[in-house]
Amino acid sequence: MDQLKLKFVVEASEAESISQKLGLPSVRHLLPVLVEPAQSLARPPISNYHVGAVGLGSDGRLFLGVNLEFPGLPLNHSVHAEQFLLTNLAVHHCPGLLAFAVSAAPCGHCRQFLQELRNPCSLQIHITSQHHQNDVTFEPLREILPNPFGPFDLLDDETPLLLERHNNGLSLLDHDHDGGDLCNGFSDPQSKRVNGVLNSTLVKIAALEAANNSHAPYSGCPSGVAIMDCDGKIYKGSYAESAAYNPSLGPVQAALVAFVAGGGGGYERIVAAALVEKETANVRQEDTARLSLKLISPQCPLTVFHCCSFAEKNGCKKD
Ligand SMILES: [Zn+2]
Repeated sequence: MDQLKLKFVVEASEAESISQKLGLPSVRHLLPVLVEPAQSLARPPISNYHVGAVGLGSDGRLFLGVNLEFPGLPLNHSVHAEQFLLTNLAVHHCPGLLAFAVSAAPCGHCRQFLQELRNPCSLQIHITSQHHQNDVTFEPLREILPNPFGPFDLLDDETPLLLERHNNGLSLLDHDHDGGDLCNGFSDPQSKRVNGVLNSTLVKIAALEAANNSHAPYSGCPSGVAIMDCDGKIYKGSYAESAAYNPSLGPVQAALVAFVAGGGGGYERIVAAALVEKETANVRQEDTARLSLKLISPQCPLTVFHCCSFAEKNGCKKD
């Protein structure tokens, strides 16, 4: 298992091969085995309670999830392992989650967040702390969250749900400044340019892409964040809403999931960030995003760009 310890995404062929080497009857049996290595990747400096989750995507890949906590910030900025898991699937364009194993029972907040998936009742869950090592029984989500409230109460059947393809039709407003150099104080010219394009422009475009993929059907206020590390690698995070509002995951947290899952290292390596959202939205991320980044990566400036939908750009009233 050593070779898997630092990987947040395991390719389908590799998952099959490891299962066979371990003599397991299926990849699903591998999920509980990987929970403990996943726990070691958690970053919970406040609770020191390490949660690990390992999910089987509908495309056969395995995805890890861990909990993240941020000293100095209110606890609702934390990311739970199940939210990390779903965001990890979203970042890697996996269209569905079939099953997952997790080290402790999902909290009520996460049971609710999982409702954002299509057909959540059929999602299979194994809680390793509640089973003997050789017992790989999975139970459906409906067993641990009966009589749920969810998207089906508020949305029509055509509205895309979490992990389904989103295109919010957003473009940047012309009057915004171009962002200049987002890499404040970062002086390595090699990492500032990729094929002659300023990395700041790439960060802005990535944040717009993240906003276009955002799952915000309840408020109609999508947003996205992109962050860049000191090697010039960019990580995108899309705001993801919950029908119950409070379990929603902010775009900075989503981008930090992408950063951690992508091997980004310590948060001090984040040197640039951009947020894209609607200027007059009912749900705005700017103030919270500034607070989060100020505490998580104090040297990283955040530049905000405003966007509007295609309909708004063509003269319809803004939100
Ligand atoms: Zn939770």
